[in-house]
Amino acid sequence: MQSIQSFYTQLTIPRKVIITTHQKPDGDAMGSSLGLFHFLEQLGHSVTVISPTNWATFLQWMPGCDKVVDFDYSREKALKIIKEAEVLFCLDFNVLHRTKNMEEVLTNLNCIKVLVDHHEQPQVQAFDYGISDPKKSSTCEMVFDFITDSGHDDKINTDIAQCLYAGIMTDTGSFRFPAASSHVHTAVARLKQTGFNHTQVHENIYDNFLENRLRFTGHVLLNRMEVFYEYNTAIISIPKNDLLRFHMKTGDTEGLVNYLLTIQGIKLAALVIDRDEERKWSFRSKGTFDANTFARTHFEGGGHFNAAGGRSSDTLENTVKNFKQVIKEYEVQLQQI
Ligand code: 5GP
Ligand code: MN
Repeated sequence: MQSIQSFYTQLTIPRKVIITTHQKPDGDAMGSSLGLFHFLEQLGHSVTVISPTNWATFLQWMPGCDKVVDFDYSREKALKIIKEAEVLFCLDFNVLHRTKNMEEVLTNLNCIKVLVDHHEQPQVQAFDYGISDPKKSSTCEMVFDFITDSGHDDKINTDIAQCLYAGIMTDTGSFRFPAASSHVHTAVARLKQTGFNHTQVHENIYDNFLENRLRFTGHVLLNRMEVFYEYNTAIISIPKNDLLRFHMKTGDTEGLVNYLLTIQGIKLAALVIDRDEERKWSFRSKGTFDANTFARTHFEGGGHFNAAGGRSSDTLENTVKNFKQVIKEYEVQLQQI
């Protein structure tokens, strides 16, 4: 993979460009994709954002979101656009299997592939150009750097600003995580100069649920949470029936795992959900506990040091049993302050 800087000279040649991200895109995935979309369009490229799957309705307000193609839902249309692509941008993921059903077609696609991402351990051989920096708060911060470092600060408009702000804000836990550096705040100050309404962005994302989602949250906190104080660990496990009973939709369980970290002393928070095709894990940690390695070693996943995901193909009950067994190996690390 060559440096992202060596790609800058190609930016001004109009091309057929596709931008993609990980399945079930979150605020950073959708924000970075659409932020880059609005930038590249201004440079005269013909650009399409293709998501591997659907996304949460609380992201639908983002400018350009109505033009995003859902690969699962509109496969023929997506395949036609992918086949004609001259440049592919991969944002907010670094291994092609995170694009789920798109993995095969992207692997075999013969075009210039560019990576912009902040997860650990990238599959570098899959990309021609790119930047992978786990110290970055978000892929949106990296798209901001891409625009400014390539000499196009003047292209930052309110559409770009809203999209990038949304991803920076969600991936930094509203500017509280250690990765919210002075550079992040400087970038946000620059975005804010465009005059966009940041209060509205917060409300669009965090105050945009239906009543049943709040009742579901109450239900799972009361009935599906277990705390293991000897391991400073807490878990929520959600059976499929709960999702059906409360009519949960894509994105409705996002953020749930963070409640566990609000309990005094908890260092490792785990959420496991019984999805149709797999049991899907979310891990969050505080301080020195490496959630990425934990997820990678035991749960076929990965991510960041303090936030990672994984999967299991066993039953929910066995998956939870396995987790309870695995944390015993980490007793010493989990008890460190
Ligand atoms: P979440 O728990 O919010 O789904 O994911 C936490 C972080 O880990 C996100 O940055 C997400 O992109 C990443 N992540 C989630 N699942 C996986 C996975 O299966 N593999 C890898 N490598 N990263 C994941
Ligand atoms: Mn991200």
